This record gives sequence, structure tokens and C-alpha cells, in this order.
Amino acid sequence: MKISMKKIFVLIILVQAFFPCRQANAFPDEGMWIPALIEKFNISIMKEKGFRLSAEDVYSVNRACMKDAVLSFGGGCTGAVISPDGLLITNHHCGYGQIQRLSTVEKDYLANGFWAMSRDEELQCPGLFVTFLKRMEDVTGEMMKGISPDMDNEARDILLDSNSEKIRKDAVEGTHYTASVRPFYMGNQYFLLVYETYNDVRLVGAPPSAIGKFGGESDNWTWPRHTGDFALFRIYAGKNNEPAAYSPDNVPFQSRYHFPVSLRGIREGDFTMIFGYPGTTMQYVPSYHIDMVKNYINPAMIKIRDRKIEIMETAMNTSPKVRLQYSAKKSGIANGWKKWIGENQGLEKMQTISRKQEYEKQLTEWIGADDGRREKYGHILPRYAEIYPELKKYSLVNSITNDAFFNSGIEAVGLASNLSAFAGMYEGSMDPEKRESYRNAMLAYAGDFFRNYDRATDMELFVSVMQLYGEILEPEWQAPEYIRLKKLCGGDFRSLAGRIYDRTIFADQDRLTSFIRDFKRSGARELKKDPFYQLAESASLLISERVRDRLGRLNAEIRELNRLYMALQMEYNRDQVFYPDANSTLRIAYGTVSGYKSADAVYFSHLTTLKGIMEKDNPEIYDYDVPAGLRQLYEEGDYGRYSQDGQLPVCFIASNHTTGGNSGSPVINADGHLAGVNFDRAWEGVASDMAFNPEQSRNISLDIRFALFIIDKFAGAGYLLDEMTLVD
Ligand code: ASP
Repeated sequence: MKISMKKIFVLIILVQAFFPCRQANAFPDEGMWIPALIEKFNISIMKEKGFRLSAEDVYSVNRACMKDAVLSFGGGCTGAVISPDGLLITNHHCGYGQIQRLSTVEKDYLANGFWAMSRDEELQCPGLFVTFLKRMEDVTGEMMKGISPDMDNEARDILLDSNSEKIRKDAVEGTHYTASVRPFYMGNQYFLLVYETYNDVRLVGAPPSAIGKFGGESDNWTWPRHTGDFALFRIYAGKNNEPAAYSPDNVPFQSRYHFPVSLRGIREGDFTMIFGYPGTTMQYVPSYHIDMVKNYINPAMIKIRDRKIEIMETAMNTSPKVRLQYSAKKSGIANGWKKWIGENQGLEKMQTISRKQEYEKQLTEWIGADDGRREKYGHILPRYAEIYPELKKYSLVNSITNDAFFNSGIEAVGLASNLSAFAGMYEGSMDPEKRESYRNAMLAYAGDFFRNYDRATDMELFVSVMQLYGEILEPEWQAPEYIRLKKLCGGDFRSLAGRIYDRTIFADQDRLTSFIRDFKRSGARELKKDPFYQLAESASLLISERVRDRLGRLNAEIRELNRLYMALQMEYNRDQVFYPDANSTLRIAYGTVSGYKSADAVYFSHLTTLKGIMEKDNPEIYDYDVPAGLRQLYEEGDYGRYSQDGQLPVCFIASNHTTGGNSGSPVINADGHLAGVNFDRAWEGVASDMAFNPEQSRNISLDIRFALFIIDKFAGAGYLLDEMTLVD
């Protein structure tokens, strides 16, 4: 049979319509996709993998769909609505700060858990908010208005800012929504995102940390995992179901959509989808960037945090009060620290730097083969080579100074820095009312700080951090006040600590409080004499005078190079459908429930059970001390409708591409039902922020049946299940 060219052409069009452009990513399950574009790029692949719903069921502007039940929780995590009355589930670790703030030594909800037995008992969480995406829209055309290729970076940025401001304003005018315009594909595409934020969110239930944080730091970032990492909150709304500030008169938010909760469970090979707010990934950066992170920043940061964690742990083990005060702080510090260790191992194992270098060689050849390409892209890789050595240096100074003095480093120095900002405003203001408000802000800030402060622990932090700061940074980049103090004590920071903690007012609540109460405009001058004020001031001046500006310029140049580098890669790999790096906007990842080979002869299967919790049980070890109530339920062995093959499932893994911010994301099965709650990744594949490894990159999720079991049988709060839509 002879087929004409015209027929072939029609055939190609038809084939493309039915099998739209396949995602030719290097790896099958890699990617965090844009919800509004899955119809175009992903849905056919999702269906091949087992998904049974349509793109519209996932994301639609016109009708209720899954996106209406996915929320950004507190700005850093994700959550999912699981009842028509605004009940939401997220991770225990996402609600941890809130639970801690509501706890006291007498009413310790972290240690004992919390369960509202009726809606009246739900607890207000000041400051907590959740945000829903209403719609997203490609606004690249509007953003590019007036932009020309010969514009310099500064002029380009100014115009982009004003274009985005206009788009944003127009989008939300006359509504209570907020909007932002965000760059995707490193600034090659722009989307408008319109949001609705609810500020009255209340704690409904949380298991004790011995369940919600079971395994603690020891198991964090690792598989097999047995953590019941969930907490329940409820969104409240004012009149017309719209956002309102907290009021006892507010009523439960009526959600347009809520996830049915699946009792069916998961099996190896099942389709899963993650719908959430991944924070940051760097998939398309050059080898120079990976080298900076892996060989320069990560090792230094790991070193300084090693010590901080050791100090905090020692203190926490000796006092329940210190444990409560430092548990959230330590978790925060340890989370990054452990991830960087795994990340470095993964990058090493995958030879990411040399693989990227090889790719860069190919790109260079391809660019060199064409005049137009040479002109457009020829400068990018050579300029990266020039700029990264400097970027490395400035980034290190910035990160280490921050981690030493301002970010849970020496705590009293951090306090001095924060309070001095208020003191400066007080000093600069002539308005007595404003001054009074600055004073009150200082008092409130100090009050909060000392709730979670232990002077002896901080003194230990001081001794070690001062030592390490001097070891890591060249003298040229050390704060002058640090150099002076070091000379003064001959490097004996312990003896210096003894003296300096007696002198400073920032390590003594009573002294500081009375100082603030009597604060006069001359107070700011008084503060300047304090040794910790001086250290904080010196470190922050070093950054503001010698680092910030240069670093800002370098990063701006890198941003522009990255934009072109991304465009180059997209042009070079024309057949590939790229996913944009994570940027804290709503994304979809899909994959398959599957175990993985961890090391030679070590295979990890996909599901853990309560039996595994009991195998880890050890009352002597804080992280593995199983609560008596759970032990008893295990002994009784009655798991009812929550069981699978006679066991109670706890966690499972799958090959979804996730990152920080995806915590609390709903894990959705082939029918669109909630099968779990994402909370972590397995250590061996954690380098996936820069290099996804299909063999080992696994996201870790709580099996929803474990959450239901805990709510029902452990907490006796089974009434909460009545408002959910439970499905088989
Ligand atoms: N644990 C992370 C989070 O808190 C999730 C991840 O990085 O996989 O968002």
C-alpha cells in the first residue's frame, strides 16, 4: 500500500494528539509537574502508570477538584483537607512548632499528645495559616512586554518587577485573594498564582511524639521507618465561608473538595501521586554549583552543626525541661545537617559532578558548531567557571556567619542582634506611642526567647561555635570583634564564656526584662556596650559591608546565566519535556510504590508495620520508647479494618520525586483517594534535589490506615472518622 506524504503528516498529527509529547526525561518517575499543564504533558503517562481519573479531576478552575483540597500549611509544609468541615491532615513535624507553643511542662502535648474530644476543645493556633491555590495562569507574554534582548540585567529586572506588579494587582483587584508571579524554568516562563489564605486554624489532634516522631533524629531521612508523622487541624471561616481572623464565632470551613480516605491500602507496584508544595530543587545547574555545595558549603555546615547537635542532645538528655525547650530547635538544626550528609554521599555515588562536566563538554561542542548559538550561549559556561570561585567564598562566609551567630548559633548573640533592631527603631522614633509599641515588642520577643533558653547549654554552644568559626573561616573573613575576643582570651573560649555570660544582659531574663522596662532613648546606646551586642554588630557589619552586596550581584549574575543556561538545555534537548525546578508552588509528582536496593545484598521492601515498631521498642532510648497504650494494642493484635495481611501498616515508600515542603502532602492512589501522607525521603536517594536516582530516590509516607488506627483505637477519638469519607 502506498501512503502519501499528506497522509503521513495527518497520521503524525493524530498520533501526537493521542500520545502527546512523551516526557523523555532521563528517569521515568522524575519530575514535579505544573498542575495546570498535566493535561498537556502528563496525563497519558499517569494513566499508563495506573491513574484512573482525568486531568480535570486533579486541577480545574471551573469545578471542584483535588487542588481545592491541597493547601500550603504555615508557609513551609503541605496539608490535605479530609472532611467537608475543613478537617485537615499534615505531618506531626509540620505542626510541631504549634504543638510545642501550646504545651507547658504540666500540659505537655508533645510528650502526651493532644486530642480534642469535641469541636469546642480544638485549640487556637496564633500565627498559623493555610493557603489554597485558586488558579494559575501562564503570564509569560505579559511579563515580557517591553523586554528586549539587549537590555542589561538591572533594567530587565526593574521592568519585570513592574510588569509583575501590574499583573498581580489586576488579578486580585476587588477580592480578598493574594497573588504572586513566579519565574519557572529559571525565568524562561512566568506563572501568575492566585491564593486564598485562612488564618483561623486550630489544633484538633496530635499523637505523642513517641508516635508522631518515633525514631526521632536517629531514623530521620532513613528507611525503614516507623513514624506516625501526622497531626490534625481544622480550618475555620467567617461569614460566607471566607477567611476571618480568629473568633469564637467562626465556623468550620466548608471545603469545595475533600479527599476520600482509602482503607484499601497500597501494594507494591501501585500508582501514587503527590500533590503539594515542594520548596527548592536545582536540577539544571552546572557542575560548578554541585561542586560548591558538595565540596565546600555542605562539609563546613555539617561540621558546625555536628557540634551544636551534640551539645543540645547532651543537655536534653539530662533535663526534661531542656528537652522541651530545645527539641524543636534541635530538630530544625539536625534536619538540614543529616540531609546534607546523605546528599553528599548520593552526589558522590552518582558521580554527579563528572557526569555534568561530561554533559557540559557536549554542550560546548554543540554551541561551537553554530555561529548563532555561539553568540547566544557561548559565554555561559566560561563565565560560570570564572564566577563560581568567588561565589563559593562569599556564600561560605555568609552561611557560616549566619549559622554561628544568628541562626540557632550562639543564642544570646542572636537575641542581641534581633533586639538591637527594635532598640534602633525606638531610638529613631519621636512618637511616644510608637516607642511604647517597640518596647512591648522587645518585651514580647524576649519573653518568647527565654521560654526556650537554657543558659548553660548556650554557654557550651558559645565555646564550640567560637572555636569552629575561627577554624572554618580565614581570618580575613572573621568579624573584627571575634578576632579581638579571641586575642583577649588567647583562644580559651571556655574561660571567656565564664566572664562574658556574667557581663551580658542577653543571657539573663530578669536583667534584660528590667532593662527593657526602663528603656529610654539612651537605652540603645547602653546596649552598644554589651559584649554580645558588639559581637552581633560586628558580624552583621561584616556581612552588610563586605558580603551582602557582592553576593547579591554575583547571585543576580548567576540568575541571568541560569536563565540562558536553561534555555540552552531546552534547545539542545528539544524532544524532552522538562519539568521546572521546585519553587514553592503547587506541583504534582507521580510514581510507583516500590522497594529499593540500599547496598550490596541489602534490599528494602516497601512497607513497614507495627511489628517493626515493637522490634525497635526500647524504653531506655528516647527515640524508641513505645507508649504503653500502643504496646498494649499490639499485644491485643486487633487491627480490624486497618490491617493488611494480618499486620498494621505504618509507612511505605514510592518513587515520587519530592523535596522539602512536600511534607504533609497527600499521597493519592489511582482512584484519587488518600492513601497516605508524605513526610520524608530515604537517605540513599536524598540527593534528588540536585540529581534524582530512580534506583534509590524514594519518598516516605505514612500509611493513612496507621493514622486512622491511632485516632480511633489509641486516642479514642474515633468520632473524627465520622466526618471523613472512608472508602475501600
Ligand atoms: N522532610 C521534608 C519536609 O519537611 C520532606 C522531604 O524533604 O522529603 O518537607
